[in-house]
Amino acid sequence: MDPATTSDSASAQPAFRGGTPPVRPDIAALAPYVPGEQPQGGRWIKLNTNENPYAPSPAVIEAIQQAASGRSLAKYPDPLATSFRTAAAERLGVEPDWILCGNGSDDVLTILVRSFVGQGESLRMPYPSYILYRTLAGIQGARCHEVTFDAAWSLGDSFMASRDGLRLVVVPNPNSPSGTVLSKAWLLEAAEQLPCPLVIDEAYVDFAETDCIDLVQQCEKVIVTRSFSKSYALAGLRFGFAVARPEIIAQLTKVKDSYNCDTLSIAAATAAIADTAWLTETRGKILATRHRLEAALTSLGFRVQPSQANFVWCTHPGTRHREIYEALKEQGILIRWMTFPNWGDGLRISVGTDEEIDAFLAALTEILRQLSTG
Ligand SMILES: *Cc1c(COP(=O)(O)O)cnc(C)c1O
Repeated sequence: MDPATTSDSASAQPAFRGGTPPVRPDIAALAPYVPGEQPQGGRWIKLNTNENPYAPSPAVIEAIQQAASGRSLAKYPDPLATSFRTAAAERLGVEPDWILCGNGSDDVLTILVRSFVGQGESLRMPYPSYILYRTLAGIQGARCHEVTFDAAWSLGDSFMASRDGLRLVVVPNPNSPSGTVLSKAWLLEAAEQLPCPLVIDEAYVDFAETDCIDLVQQCEKVIVTRSFSKSYALAGLRFGFAVARPEIIAQLTKVKDSYNCDTLSIAAATAAIADTAWLTETRGKILATRHRLEAALTSLGFRVQPSQANFVWCTHPGTRHREIYEALKEQGILIRWMTFPNWGDGLRISVGTDEEIDAFLAALTEILRQLSTG
């Protein structure tokens, strides 16, 4: 008898011993999304993943401590994060049922792609931008239609064109890695032309001059996502949200995990969004340091893209970006060397504290001197 058909479990062999486990072919073929390095331990100057270099608002820490007291963690969290939605709605001038919360804005993006994009359909995104969108489409067995930015980091009309199977368009604004923004008028025009919803990923918007929340009210196809990881200094907490028409939010709510946000993160995000003074002060410090960083990089011979985010994208005419990245890493300074196939490469530097940026600039100056003489 064929041993595989006996009930003797000891003789049953997993089909994938040494090979690929029997996941869906789409998943087996998927290139994993690789986030920036997160070294654990050691003394690093971390300028590679756009975290906020400052401590979060003290009101946030207090809210977490209170939320953790007594028996509160023994109970499930509020599945709809009502306290946060009420506070955020007031702040943004919408109703609470226009808001969906997520375990980071990446979770919100996952919910959006799962809700709108089916197998064999397609998602459109600009290139180069946030590569996670491509991974999320891949998990759905969907296609990704990437439209390349022009030299001025604008997008042509092909970005708003109809196309068979197009179900969702996602654009980060400000964009990463460039730190550039598309105008509100252009985004509204795109949303009106498109045959499907347009997600404007505003992970960096608190560092920018304008935001697109009012486009959600003007056009039913616009969905805005926000994150607490960058401007609110809460990347370790995992909280983000979407703003969209209540009819859209109701559909997305069916797709999310019931308890996708925990009691501590809901309490923390509710306190964070209420502390507008902390945000104004922190934003001011980061923008001042960003201006200084942009000027210093320019005087070191870099081409610097004027940024509306908490990072700067730059290229050096010598184009030895990889060597610069590696030499900095040897000195305990992490920045992001990003290379985009069929496009090019460059360096993305997050805005740290003034001390961190001074240390970075001193090391960079010396590295450039050695590269030019060596
Ligand atoms: C950092 C980032 C996010 C992810 O934010 P989380 O809230 O930490 O999940 C989303 N979009 C873009 C463009 C980002 O850079």
